[in-house]
Amino acid sequence: MTAHSSKRDFAKPQVDVVVVGAGFSGLYLLYRLRELGFSTAVLEAADDVGGTWYWNRYPGARCDIQTIDYCYSFDPELETEWQWSERYATQPEILRYLQYVADKHELRRDIRFSTRVEEAVWQDDTSLWSIRTSQGDEITSRYYVMATGCLSMPKTPEITGHDRFLGEVYFTSHWPHKGVDFTGKQVAIIGTGSSGVQSIPMIAEQAEELTVFQRTPCYCIPARNGPVPAHWLAALEGDRGAYREAARQSLFGVPIEPIGVGALQVSDEERQARYEGIWEAGELLGVVGAYADIITNAKSNETLGEFVRGKIRAIVNDPVTAEALCPKDFFIGTKRPCLDTNYYASYNLPHVRLVDLRKNPIETITETGIDTTDESFAFDAIVFATGFDAMTGALVGVDITGSKGITLRDKWAHGPETYLGLMTAGFPNFFTVTGPGSPSVLSNMVVSIEQHVEWICDVLDDLRRKGIELIEPTKTAEAGWVQHVNDCANITLLPQTNSWYTGANVPGKPQVFLPYIGGVGPYRKACDEVVERDYIGFVLEGHGRRSCTDGVIRRLQPDVSMVLDMIAELQWPRFETLSVDDARVFALETLTGRPPGPDVGECIDGTLPGAAGKLDYRLYRPASPGPHPIVVYFHGGGWMLGGYDTDDPLCRDLCVQSKAIIVSVDYRHAPEARFPAAPEDAFAAVHWIAANAESLGGIPGELAVCGWSAGANLAAVVCQMARDAAGPAISGQLLITPVTDYDFTRDSYKTNGEGYFLTTALMQWFWDHYADPADRLDPRASPLRADNLAGLPPAIIVTCEFDPLRDEGIAYLEALKTAGVAAQHIPCRGHIHSSLSLVDMVLSGADARVSMGGALRGFFEAWGQGDGLEKSARSR
Ligand SMILES: Cc1cc2nc3c(=O)[nH]c(=O)nc-3n(C[C@H](O)[C@H](O)[C@H](O)COP(=O)(O)OP(=O)(O)OC[C@H]3O[C@@H](n4cnc5c(N)ncnc54)[C@H](O)[C@@H]3O)c2cc1C
Repeated sequence: MTAHSSKRDFAKPQVDVVVVGAGFSGLYLLYRLRELGFSTAVLEAADDVGGTWYWNRYPGARCDIQTIDYCYSFDPELETEWQWSERYATQPEILRYLQYVADKHELRRDIRFSTRVEEAVWQDDTSLWSIRTSQGDEITSRYYVMATGCLSMPKTPEITGHDRFLGEVYFTSHWPHKGVDFTGKQVAIIGTGSSGVQSIPMIAEQAEELTVFQRTPCYCIPARNGPVPAHWLAALEGDRGAYREAARQSLFGVPIEPIGVGALQVSDEERQARYEGIWEAGELLGVVGAYADIITNAKSNETLGEFVRGKIRAIVNDPVTAEALCPKDFFIGTKRPCLDTNYYASYNLPHVRLVDLRKNPIETITETGIDTTDESFAFDAIVFATGFDAMTGALVGVDITGSKGITLRDKWAHGPETYLGLMTAGFPNFFTVTGPGSPSVLSNMVVSIEQHVEWICDVLDDLRRKGIELIEPTKTAEAGWVQHVNDCANITLLPQTNSWYTGANVPGKPQVFLPYIGGVGPYRKACDEVVERDYIGFVLEGHGRRSCTDGVIRRLQPDVSMVLDMIAELQWPRFETLSVDDARVFALETLTGRPPGPDVGECIDGTLPGAAGKLDYRLYRPASPGPHPIVVYFHGGGWMLGGYDTDDPLCRDLCVQSKAIIVSVDYRHAPEARFPAAPEDAFAAVHWIAANAESLGGIPGELAVCGWSAGANLAAVVCQMARDAAGPAISGQLLITPVTDYDFTRDSYKTNGEGYFLTTALMQWFWDHYADPADRLDPRASPLRADNLAGLPPAIIVTCEFDPLRDEGIAYLEALKTAGVAAQHIPCRGHIHSSLSLVDMVLSGADARVSMGGALRGFFEAWGQGDGLEKSARSR
């Protein structure tokens, strides 16, 4: 932590905290802040509490998370004194609930209704927020919290002539309080998202004719509303505390155990049965949690998408309508799926018609109806169910100016930047509840709201006790969090879909993935850790003192973290504490159940002559017609463990990516065969493969070497041996997280030597078994120690940020360059030593593997033209 003296003034505010919004968030904030003794003013545009549930009064409006979950947990009395009448409560019931909470805790007395906040300005000289409202009030506060909701800024319909229509016009997002009677009317509804799906069956019950204008069909599963299923109720009532806590630690804010297997790892029958179960269960999270890889693997996802399409085709009688209702151009779960009641069946009613705007787009809305390219329609009423400017709309809807005159709108012009979705640099003492970069809309929002409210209030309380009056995130912390949010999103299919999660529904809105998809529980852990680690990433300032522990809270790739957490949970023994035999057995055990890697054209096992006897090899041939270049691959395992089996998925991937034959060669292992047995075998293998390239299906003279870890050490050494022996000719060397030196003093050993699976102790164990101390600096053990690196084949060196071997990989790269060798670097941010070998497990490593494949191709094409390398270098 750095600490300095500060001369900042802290003038006295009118209230400690101004909160904007009186929905679930604002109400709980007020309750909590009041309890802590902070004077608070809540400003709300509506004339009562409720937020979403105040505004969205359209017929059929309900929650789509079971109401026993979608409710507050902070008040134990409330938990039992309020009984929900249905599994998915209607809007009026949820609104009554929030009104009940407001009454019970006498919250209304601190809420100014019909008061829209128009401007909020941070004053550097007084360290106060100055807030101006539609009522002409100016209020100063020390803290300013936007509890304005993720879905509270309706989107203006971008349809020509939308204000021309002279009949009745309704928006689902601000429905008339007195309700609407559509009896006997010709009604149009535009939009088939959640609100459209909920309201269409209800409007169809009344209207004489209902015409639905659909741009993008959505995936719906039946809600099966009714009483709360007995097993859910039993779980809740059996142990309420444990139930709520499980929700807080879960991925989506509902206590559901995630399934560990992927959709393609089970039989077709088993998968079908599970999907039928999801269809029957009526739970939204059943969709995104159907299988472990449902939102990460396109092929797995397609199985569920096709299942739902099958259901749509079975329900809807008219095949053309059914087909138009089938989503086909986005992955299921990558837009919010809907829970419906009779939605698809509504299209079987004779007076309900679907207009597919993709085939027959709207040209204009007219005074009397809607003109499409093919047809003119006349209507009595048009309902717009066109959604929201989600997550950022309400925030940038207020003129917010932070320190030094920077506006939020300008700062977020290219997409929101936040720390934890809670604060943003340059805007001291400004908080957002469920802001962009937090789980928010990807969760049961009440759980996320409670977590944010509690975090904010606990922090304010803690700061007050410490005499601190100002908190603001640093740019480093913020950039790190934005990166982490993107890292989490990028291993899923979600950013590939245009949706309101990405801002794609609002013309001109910057397209970035807005919510945090790393899970409610992991997110909570990060927020708590920030506080525990001395408010890492925050500047704190009080009277006369300013301090900061700068840094980034999550630097590992999210799937790498998951792997490390899993290893910790399974309490894997440390290899170096085992006997060599046990370590070998255990190394094989760790492979159980891992994804097999991609299919290749052909895979054959064989033997070849090594330096002192036969060596096993496995050859992977691409599916494309040969002959192909050959890459000789050496597996990792500290010269002691492993074989071609252990690196099988990586070799398959390399084969597919590089379009080359991969020959994965075994070599004699230590401690039975110590140094220099392994490099001698490796060199002999390369010799034999080069000489037999044609019979292996290869192109003579087109040969490269590659290896991972200790195998990369051998690949590097073989290149030196081949140069010194004047053959065989090697076109390139791809060294994946190589061992290049016996030296544990580099920084990467100091910072990554513990906690990232490959440890200093394990490397020491490997070296001790592999080579006598006197041999360890021999260039055939430590290739970096070679006197001369000139004349070596072009090299690509892959390093991982959290690998103890990182810096020796970089040192070899630099040494090669200095010696005039063409050498390129593929640095892998947030990865550990083993990341790239975990094909289809560490999905965030896929990009680097594409680069590696491109690099290998580049060895055989014009140097450096590997398109994979260039493509992914750009994306990093
Ligand atoms: C139809 C619908 C159904 C939903 N169903 C679910 C569900 O089943 N499960 C789920 O998890 N989530 C659901 N959501 C999301 C829902 O928005 C949240 O669950 C939750 O209600 C948000 O509460 P909030 O208090 O944060 O925001 P909101 O309820 O949106 O309240 C924000 C308040 O801020 C006020 N406000 C905004 N800007 C200003 C300003 N400048 N000045 C003054 N006041 C302002 C608004 O008037 C509003 O009252 C649904 C959303 C919609 C629209």
